[in-house]
Amino acid sequence: MSDNRHTKLLIIGSGPAGYTAGVYGSRAMLEPILVQGIEPGGQLTTTTEVENWPGDTEVQGPDLMLRMEAHAKAVGTEIIGDIISDLDLSKRPFTAIGDSGTTYTADAVILATGARAKWLGLDTEEKFKGFGVSACATCDGFFYRNQEIVVIGGGNTAVEEALFLTNFASKVTLIHRRDELRAEKILIDRLMKNDKIEPLWFHELVEVSGTDMPLGVEAVKVKHTKTGEITEITCKGVFVAIGHAPANELVIDQLETHMGGYVVTKPDSTATSIPGVFAAGDLTDHLYRQAVTSAGMGCMAALEAERFLAEQE
Ligand code: FAD
Ligand code: NAP
Repeated sequence: MSDNRHTKLLIIGSGPAGYTAGVYGSRAMLEPILVQGIEPGGQLTTTTEVENWPGDTEVQGPDLMLRMEAHAKAVGTEIIGDIISDLDLSKRPFTAIGDSGTTYTADAVILATGARAKWLGLDTEEKFKGFGVSACATCDGFFYRNQEIVVIGGGNTAVEEALFLTNFASKVTLIHRRDELRAEKILIDRLMKNDKIEPLWFHELVEVSGTDMPLGVEAVKVKHTKTGEITEITCKGVFVAIGHAPANELVIDQLETHMGGYVVTKPDSTATSIPGVFAAGDLTDHLYRQAVTSAGMGCMAALEAERFLAEQE
């Protein structure tokens, strides 16, 4: 059934940026509507321990996001399980269409759609996606009990995924295109001390191979980045952890972007090129991409939206 909802402030996204915007927007009496999207709680729901959220020496990512959701709800944010499929920022009020059939109109919008895992773009990666190729160790690691697996990448996600996968796998090969990891030092230290993990430097994945009936991975081919030599590694699982790209599809034709698709905001602000539209979190941040910085930007966006709406009145 189609439905029309008007709000002063529409928040799109339910990661740390969206929920924090909800808390601040509600306390400013803006009665915001927050649409959660396909991944309620955002990227932190795909990890286990978070060790750098201030106030918690260690907290499980999904638990932290449930607490943020409860906080936003408790102060008055209306949280809706819907996915925005179309957003029109060309006229006022701004209009968003939900997959549910609901049309949301809003006087101000906070975009907090975050980022999504990148893929290598190989045909064989696509073929085995969901059948041995994954971008989420916490979702799929359990299926690889006592199996050999490979992880591709050299950032925090790759190192954390490799460490987590040692809970299940008999061996994890971390394949990185350089011989230097960009992960935090504390994580690299843990990686190097873990007997189940073997780093393979200067290598890139070129092919995933396996069986067709049933579909399943048996091996990968990797290429030495300097010599070009191809090696085959036997494995049952391939975890691709090569970074994240901003989830900008709702606004790519409407707002200025830079650095590979991140929404541009004004200096020291979350204001975009359209007055009344604010962007917060990984959607706009090509530098830090942390839960705490996303939450900080969510706060800024709500405070700026409040000021914008007050000026309109
Ligand atoms: P996200 O968390 O990406 O959330 C985006 C939200 O937007 C989601 O709720 C999604 O459903 C919603 N959305 C997207 N499109 C739509 C749409 N069309 N309609 C409606 N909603 C939509 N950071 C740390 O500080 N510490 C860590 O330990 C840490 N560990 C991590 C582990 C992993 C495996 C990963 C992938 C990331 C980790 N990060 C960590 C980074 C951190 O998760 C991100 O910086 C943070 O989640 C970004 O928050 P965000 O609110 O911008 O967006
Ligand atoms: P990232 O930091 O961008 O790292 C991506 C890694 O993948 C890099 O090592 C990169 O290699 C490699 N890579 C990229 N494209 C590749 C390709 N085509 N082929 C092979 N390798 C490729 O991404 P991330 O690890 O997903 O982290 C994203 C953000 O989330 C970061 O800001 C990170 O700090 C944050 N995060 C934080 C935590 C935490 O705080 N514990 C945990 C996870 C994520 P090069 O190094 O050669 O460029």
